[in-house]
Amino acid sequence: MPTPSDNDQAIRLAAFNALQALVERHGEVLPWEIIADGFQLHGEQHLFANRTRGIFWPRQMQETALSIKTTVPRGTRVARYDDDNIASDGAFLYKFQGTDVEARDNRRLVRAQQLDAPLIYLYGIEPGFYRPLWPVYISDVDLASHSFHVTVSEPETVKQRFVADAKLLSLERRYTTVQAKKRLHQAAFRQHVLNAYERRCAVCAFPRIELLDGAHILPDRDERGHAEVPNGLALCRLHHGAFDTNLMGIRPDGVIELAPSLLATQDGPTLEHALKGFVGKTLHLPRAKELRPKKLYLEERYERFRKVG
Ligand SMILES: [Zn+2]
Repeated sequence: MPTPSDNDQAIRLAAFNALQALVERHGEVLPWEIIADGFQLHGEQHLFANRTRGIFWPRQMQETALSIKTTVPRGTRVARYDDDNIASDGAFLYKFQGTDVEARDNRRLVRAQQLDAPLIYLYGIEPGFYRPLWPVYISDVDLASHSFHVTVSEPETVKQRFVADAKLLSLERRYTTVQAKKRLHQAAFRQHVLNAYERRCAVCAFPRIELLDGAHILPDRDERGHAEVPNGLALCRLHHGAFDTNLMGIRPDGVIELAPSLLATQDGPTLEHALKGFVGKTLHLPRAKELRPKKLYLEERYERFRKVG
């Protein structure tokens, strides 16, 4: 298997490391402003991506691209869980720039496939926000549908992949791509739910995004537990935990209840204020009706709370 040119590879590895640091610091979904700052290599500033281009490489890269990007258009309020960009082999489908595989941008990705060179995929979660995936590889060039097949791999494999067995490698990438898609859905769900609730807990209005979750009303594994905003609630960690363990229940009309066992307990300020203090109060819900919880979901969930309690 040929190796990517050393020059391109150095830029790539620096980009991967810089991206890792950004994700550790800011979380797995990055606003464009942070991505746009780029990264340093040998005192020189490089960009990860370009706002207007899908396929990008810094001018210092000679053969391949550094990143690909998909964008969610402005004005899209409700999440679309885009399954049209999924290929039959489980890979992501990434459209050619135009229709000509020989076009300048597309040639960079064809070359990345030939060299099995790792890339970054900036996956648009909502307008201006991206979940970076890396390393990703171009596993196929589909001339009929004018698209590249993109598979995800584990970051550790970037250095080891030349010794790996080709069949194992393809299995690993298939598995990692499936996992990456699941995490993408979760990240997108959380992001959309938090936006709908204006980044506050629906119970207590706590506003720090670091401590907020996108909670499912009907669990993910339930076949109706779709990752859509009307099956979600923005909840802080405490209230998410209480809701998930049925210590806190929500009536279909949005009124908060606590499990009898908890109501009977006497304890310090967390129990008295942060839990009992909300009994009988109503959830803060999104202004837009279509983003509010589905009554049917709340009813079913409340039934469960009553049974457990
Ligand atoms: Zn809360």
